[in-house]
Amino acid sequence: MSRICNFYAGPATLPLPVLNQIQEEIVDYMGMGLSLIETSHRSKEYNNVHNEAISHIKELLKVPDNYKILFLGGGATLQFSMVPLNLLNGESCDFTLTGTWAKKAYSDAKKVGKVNVVFDGSGSNYTKLPDIASLKVNPDSVYLHITSNETIHGIQWQEFPDAGNVPIISDMSSDIMSRSLPIEKFGLIYAGAQKNLGPAGVTLVIIRDNLLSRCPDTLTAYLNYNTHVEKNSLYNTPPVFSIYALNLALQWIKKQGGLKAMEELAERKSSMLYNAIDESNGYYSCPVDRSCRSRMNVVFRLPNEELEKKFSEEATKQGMIGLKGHQSVGGCRASIYNAMPEEGVSKLVNFMKDFASRNK
Ligand SMILES: *Cc1c(COP(=O)(O)O)cnc(C)c1O
Repeated sequence: MSRICNFYAGPATLPLPVLNQIQEEIVDYMGMGLSLIETSHRSKEYNNVHNEAISHIKELLKVPDNYKILFLGGGATLQFSMVPLNLLNGESCDFTLTGTWAKKAYSDAKKVGKVNVVFDGSGSNYTKLPDIASLKVNPDSVYLHITSNETIHGIQWQEFPDAGNVPIISDMSSDIMSRSLPIEKFGLIYAGAQKNLGPAGVTLVIIRDNLLSRCPDTLTAYLNYNTHVEKNSLYNTPPVFSIYALNLALQWIKKQGGLKAMEELAERKSSMLYNAIDESNGYYSCPVDRSCRSRMNVVFRLPNEELEKKFSEEATKQGMIGLKGHQSVGGCRASIYNAMPEEGVSKLVNFMKDFASRNK
């Protein structure tokens, strides 16, 4: 068996040691004679995994004690509605419209309450982010929503704005655990697991406890954050397989040297690709402003669409899949999350050079 290089945007590549350990344990988990995913979510064995995953998150991200860690269902998409349903409570919030994902979150928030748009990137086709110094946040807003990495447009906030007393809420689905974070600036962080954390099915939510008093009692049980805080995310059956795999992925990150190592790795891998693009004499081009190029999703164009198609087809034949850009924007995209090894990126860079020389 040989593993290919997987550049899919999500669900995405997982660390091989994580997959191997799952394979080893799937039939008989630690001598129990059954697998963890066939066990009650109230069992000691499952609870250890659940709580271990929470501690790893706290440790890796240095989460202060006044924040709660939740594992929810419904993807990042459910958070587009849970955040405003729980926190707006008749007041207004601020949004930065930076790409497809921010717009989806905005569209749901607007159905719940009043939303002020404080940045709209549509004029630049979502290739730029606001200058953080000039971003004007309404001091009366309950929160400022940002999308730390726009997976489709390949743009990433390098630094986070200073929103004064207004907490920032961020969708971090595609760059969580790729760098350390100033957690205190955030009121809530959410991330679907299937890009940089583990398999699909679990969504990580980190919420500051002083926001919990805003959640209306009129909300149905599952939709209310308080329900999950009170039950340590065990109100109903959690996605046990996804949390088990997430726990293994977090152990793997710790073993690699934590978020500092992940950040350096992301810097090296993305630089290799951006250098290959910038040094190609215009054969490859990156539409994104240099100030906000993503270290997770590198988007690029070739001279024409025909060559882009040929590029991804030939790459697939050479064992590199998932390089076609999102259908809504076209072009090419290499998603290089934590689990993508440097060798995978070197292989892609060599292929890019070779392809350009053969297809002038
Ligand atoms: C993939 C993605 C989502 C959607 O996640 P689901 O888990 O499919 O709901 C939301 N936001 C960002 C930034 C994403 O990359």
